[in-house]
Formats: sequence, structure tokens, C-alpha cells
Amino acid sequence: MLHGTQTIGDNGNLWIGGVDTAKLAQVFGTPLYIYDTALIKEKIRTFKDAFAAYAHLDWQVAYASKAFSTVAMVQLVRDFGLSLDVVSGGELYTALKAGFPREKIHFNGNNKSDEELALALDAEIGAVIVDNFHELNTLERMCSARSQEMDILLRVTPGVEAHTHEFIMTGQDDTKFGFNLDNGSAEEAVRLAVQSPHLVPKGIHCHIGSQIFEPEAFVQAIRTVYRYAGEWKERVGFVMDVLNVGGGFGIRYTAADHPLSVKQYIDPIVAATKSASRDHGLPVPAIWIEPGRSIVGEAGTTLYTLGSSKEIPGVRKYISVDGGMADNIRPALYQADYESVVANRASEPADETVTVAGKCCETGDVLIKNAKVPKTSTSGDLLAVFCTGAYGYSMASHYNRLPNPAVVFVEEGEATLVVRRESYADLIRNDLPLKTLSCHE
Ligand SMILES: *Cc1c(COP(=O)(O)O)cnc(C)c1O
Repeated sequence: MLHGTQTIGDNGNLWIGGVDTAKLAQVFGTPLYIYDTALIKEKIRTFKDAFAAYAHLDWQVAYASKAFSTVAMVQLVRDFGLSLDVVSGGELYTALKAGFPREKIHFNGNNKSDEELALALDAEIGAVIVDNFHELNTLERMCSARSQEMDILLRVTPGVEAHTHEFIMTGQDDTKFGFNLDNGSAEEAVRLAVQSPHLVPKGIHCHIGSQIFEPEAFVQAIRTVYRYAGEWKERVGFVMDVLNVGGGFGIRYTAADHPLSVKQYIDPIVAATKSASRDHGLPVPAIWIEPGRSIVGEAGTTLYTLGSSKEIPGVRKYISVDGGMADNIRPALYQADYESVVANRASEPADETVTVAGKCCETGDVLIKNAKVPKTSTSGDLLAVFCTGAYGYSMASHYNRLPNPAVVFVEEGEATLVVRRESYADLIRNDLPLKTLSCHE
């Protein structure tokens, strides 16, 4: 299935953003990450519109940049008015270098180093989402030493686990993230934050999973948070100004996925927050969300060149591409499924089932188990794998010393290089010869 501005041109090739993918391969080489920027903008607009439909509601949509973080992407997010969620010093550095407004940056993560927190305090970012007691103490100590205040949210675990088409209420959460609501940790954290001279507790954060297709999971998480937070006004003198329900909105990778519209997630989230606030006699907080995958996933396509093939009669036929698990770890890591098209034969019937293998030295380096391709497909053809925009580039490795591919943005007939392809020289840039870096007593 085609996404966004993808079309099949008169020449039978796949076009994205008004650009022929065969031309992109020629100019930029393969493997190549191609982003349909019009589709990213449309997704951003859809999230904003879903909230803007509510008068008198305070909200923020923070793009979870771990899904795909580069200077150009952060600038696109900035230009379209979203906030930004970062989870490391590197993502924060990227955001600052990209000129992202510091007050709209939120910092997540379960083990932020002192150095990372110092970077956040230096930059005076909008909020740190505090994950645990160690961080709460460290941040208070650092703020005290600097005579600086910092807005914080406290990440809690509402005991909802949501994955794809199901969610379960676990009550007791077994996760490395956040303060447990059930055993009183969250209340203790709120008490400490309220008493802290330099931390300003603005609200509560939770993030219940990824690729969620069940809005009821968000509703249950909100109700659970309120079951505790609803009593914190009396018990510890804390009222949420902000409720951040995280990200995880599902997208369509293959025909097996049936994503909902953004409205179908946001409306129940808003309704549940309003009704829980009313039930507890509390003001409606600002609602923040953190979509990552749902902003960039469908906008990304990876373009490969087909190389060798191997047919095992009666078993299967493998065709190999010039990338693989180094540029897309998700099939190996999560058994993720993808759809593809032979980009220079996009109008031919795809009548043969093959297995698309990567070029890494791992038997498990298979990108697509059962891909449909035209029988005529041959070495030198281009394979476009759809919906690789999230957690592809951002999880890329140098396994087998493969240089990371280039990234291009395409829109209205124009292609813009936003990340250069790495060279072999880039691969050894930080390598030192034997015996240079020794340390003598
Ligand atoms: C990963 C993550 C997100 C984004 O998840 P998506 O599935 O990409 O929408 C948002 N918030 C937190 C805290 C996360 O860890």
C-alpha cells in the first residue's frame, strides 16, 4: 500500500514527494532513508487539530525525538510548533544545535547522568521528567548548588501494559521506569518534590507502551493515575497542573495493522481526563502527549539495491539487499513486519514470494520474511521498504562496519540531503593506532 505522497509514475517507478526514487538512488546511492516531509507535516497538523478542537484546554504535543532525531527533523518540528521530548544528552545537544526553543524541551529517561542533567540545567529546558528517587535527589542537589529552579513531572507506572492490539492491567508494574503508584513510591516522590526548595512539581507523566491500537488503555491509565493523584491534594498538598500520557499511538506497518485516527485516541484521553478531574473535584490539567512513531513512521521509506539471490527449491528464494539489520534492526529485534515494492517495477504484478535478506553476517538478518516481488526482479533493481521512518535511522548501527546511509527529505519535486552518507573514513574517525593512548605510572 502506498503512503502519503507516494505514487507510481508513468515510467512505472515509485515516486515520493514528486521525486522518482530511481533518480534518488542515482544521486544519493543506496541504502537511502527517504522522508516524505509533507506526510510528517500532515501528521503534526492532525495531532494539533485534535487538541485545538477543544476550547479552554491547555495541551502540548511533544515529538518523541528518539524515533528519528537529526538537526533537520528537529527544525521541522520546531517550525510546526510542537514541543520536543529528548531522552539523552545527545538528543538534547541535537535539539539545542538545531535551535529548538529550550522552554519546549522535555527530558525523559531512567538514568540521566549528572552531566546530562547539567546540560539540561545550563540550557534551562522546559521540564525534566523525573524517573526515580536518585534523580530526584541529584536534581535537587544540583539546582541548589546553582540556585536554580526546574519544573519537573514525575513519571509513574499505572500498571497498564499496552502492546499492539491488547492491553493488560497488571496492577503492580515490573518495569525499570518510573515511580510505582501501588506501593506508595509515587506518593513519596510527590511529597519530596513538594518539599523540595528548587524543584517545581508541575505534574505527572506516564507512558504505557508502543504501537497501541486500543484507546481504552490510555483511559485506564488516566483513571489509575487519578485514583492516587486525586487524593494527593489532601494528603501532600499537590495538584497536577499537567498530565502527560506519553506516546505509543499505533501506525500501519502492514495490512495486518488497523490504526485509528488521531482523534480516536485524543478524544477519549481528553474525555477521561475531564471526567476524572470532575470526579475528584480538581481543575482539568494541561494534557501533554509524546508521539514519536506516529509522526515519522509512515513518512519514511528505505531504498535498497538488490544484489545476490539464492533459490532453495521447495523451500524458499532469498534475495539480498545492500543494507539490513544495521539500518533497520526492528525485524531482528521485534520480529517486525514490513511491506515493500520493487521501486523500478512498481507497476508490474508482484507474483513471486521471496525472503528479503540483509547483507550482515547473521542468519537472523532478514528484513521481510514473505515479500511479493515481480518474477522479473533482478540484481540491480531497487527495493523500497515502507514505514521505516521511526526507529530505523535512530537505531542504526555500524555492525560489520557498514557506514550509516544518507537521509533525504523529499517534497514537491525536490530532494534535500539532511544527513550525509558515512564514508569508510568516518568509520575509523575515532580509532587510534595501537600504543598511542597508553597510561604509564
Ligand atoms: C518511546 C517513548 C515515546 C514515544 O513512543 P512512540 O511509540 O514512538 O510514540 C514517548 N514517551 C516516552 C517516555 C517514550 O519512552
